[in-house]
Amino acid sequence: MEKLAREQVQKLTPYMSARRIGGSGDVWLNANESPFDNEYQLNLSGLNRYPGCQPEGMLSAYAAYAGVQPEQVLTTRGADEGIELMVRAFCEPGEDAILYCPPTYGMYAISAETIGVERRVVPLTSDWQLDLPTIEASLDGVKVVFVCSPNNPTGNLVRREDIITLLELTKDRAIVVMDEAYIDFCPEASTVDLLAQYENLAILRTMSKAFALAGLRCGYTLANAELIQVLLKVIAPYPVSLPVAEIAQQALSESGLARMKYQVLDINTNRAYLQAGLSAISGVKVFDGWGNYLLVEFPDGDALFKATWDHGIILRNSPIENCIRISAGNREECEKTLTFIRNYYQ
Ligand SMILES: *Cc1c(COP(=O)(O)O)cnc(C)c1O
Repeated sequence: MEKLAREQVQKLTPYMSARRIGGSGDVWLNANESPFDNEYQLNLSGLNRYPGCQPEGMLSAYAAYAGVQPEQVLTTRGADEGIELMVRAFCEPGEDAILYCPPTYGMYAISAETIGVERRVVPLTSDWQLDLPTIEASLDGVKVVFVCSPNNPTGNLVRREDIITLLELTKDRAIVVMDEAYIDFCPEASTVDLLAQYENLAILRTMSKAFALAGLRCGYTLANAELIQVLLKVIAPYPVSLPVAEIAQQALSESGLARMKYQVLDINTNRAYLQAGLSAISGVKVFDGWGNYLLVEFPDGDALFKATWDHGIILRNSPIENCIRISAGNREECEKTLTFIRNYYQ
């Protein structure tokens, strides 16, 4: 059967999501999920009818939250679908390229590979910022540049002045896609205000992280109305099921937003607790992080990863030597993890 698949697909290694990697235990800090399991009410009538392609209530609610107009919003099946739509809408397979800067989120590469679009790779600098001179020299044929801030898995913010320089460099040539999956943990760092100025800016958002709705599969793309119209040409006719629209609207209601903001404060506090505790262990280096996770460098990352795994504490290993990404879960999960690691190094 494999032989029947497209050659490109035969060569493909699927994204190793936390869920695919598996594990067993009672502390799950490997997927940057929220520890909060919030309740929702579902009205399950009208399921005999197709939903709108872009349910209005949901769009206007997210637009109000993000501070843009509803026509500047596209809702998708998670931010992951937004990534794929950007590649499909703007890159001709075998001709155009995307550019991204590792270490960063893995789905930019996978979407491009699946679609048969060239990947241009310009690693981040040693302090995990954009290498603008090399990016500038690599832009030939590039239609979409992905920048993740806060960056997954490093946790740092990309400097705003560098993003602006990149937007200038790519003007009339390429779209800069800012992946703001974690921006609700540091809303002051959003580039949403730059949308008014830069036509070539698109922003990816998700309800999977701060909104505690990873299981819902709901994300958004923010951009100028014309760019959104282009994406609407390639999106599936009914990407948002009725229950998804209903739950998303409840999460975006006044009380839903208040709850999210309260939970963000709580998670940020737990992240600070983890950071302080881990930093106090000799030989351990914690990088500053602005999302709901921290990248941590250990003397022997692989061995520690295995030790926590065997103990039922499931963390995420990273492509960066000796570094492990740890999600900020609830206080109990953070305490258990910290205690285990502290004892491990004693
Ligand atoms: C989690 C994540 C996404 C994907 O979010 P979904 O909405 O769950 O598809 C996108 N980008 C980054 C950087 C992420 O960490």
